[in-house]
Amino acid sequence: MKRYIIAGNWKMYQNLLEMTSFFNTIKSNLNKISNPHITKIICPVFPLLQKAIDISNGSEIFIGAQNVSQHDKGAFTGEVSANILKSINTPYCIIGHSERRQYFNENEETIRLKWMQLRAESINPIICIGETLEQRENGETFSVIESQLKGIFSDMDIDTQEDLLVAYEPVWAIGTGKTATPEMAQEVHAFIRKTLKSFYGDKAVKIPLLYGGSVKPNNIKDLLMQNDIDGALVGGASLIVDNYIEMITIAGELL
Ligand code: PEP
Repeated sequence: MKRYIIAGNWKMYQNLLEMTSFFNTIKSNLNKISNPHITKIICPVFPLLQKAIDISNGSEIFIGAQNVSQHDKGAFTGEVSANILKSINTPYCIIGHSERRQYFNENEETIRLKWMQLRAESINPIICIGETLEQRENGETFSVIESQLKGIFSDMDIDTQEDLLVAYEPVWAIGTGKTATPEMAQEVHAFIRKTLKSFYGDKAVKIPLLYGGSVKPNNIKDLLMQNDIDGALVGGASLIVDNYIEMITIAGELL
């Protein structure tokens, strides 16, 4: 049976009150979102993670962090280690989001180090990749994706215990309202699948590939219907609880 993953990246939005109201609404609509074949994840800001883990209890939603340090511990003011995330039982963590690449100079090497930190603590990574508008317009999409995948995955074994998720997020579609068409997204997802297969053989088939970039209730269905799209990483639309519930409901209808 197919499984879908609907993950919300809250970025630097949603304070404590807003988050509490979100989860209260989720809990009173459990009949709409309850589905063991849909993995639901919400990634709030660091200071709210513990509270999110507490109040999401009974909501079927897993909590994820949006980032982690590449170091295991030490004098790194403002950073949060995988061990600290583990100490509050954070099950997922986004790494390599394009906003981290763009504003905080992250690259394949740092993403790889972060993944190793997460792995040491058995936290599941959501690894983001994607091309910029300029790269797409220059016809470099596939070479960029391939080099990102090689930079992150080469010499890394797949750990069967880990729920490893890869998110294809074309940078030009994030927060811009521009979505890749389902066909464009599928084309890149098929390429990602093929490339991961060349690294891991049939084991790669079980890696869910999420699409991200202005996903909303009105476009999620056609995206999820594509062969190699197993879910969505959603920014803006995941902040509005009714939209999040609607996207999960739509995914449920496709199963
Ligand atoms: C994201 O932040 O990962 C994202 C895809 O944002 P948005 O859905 O707002 O484009």
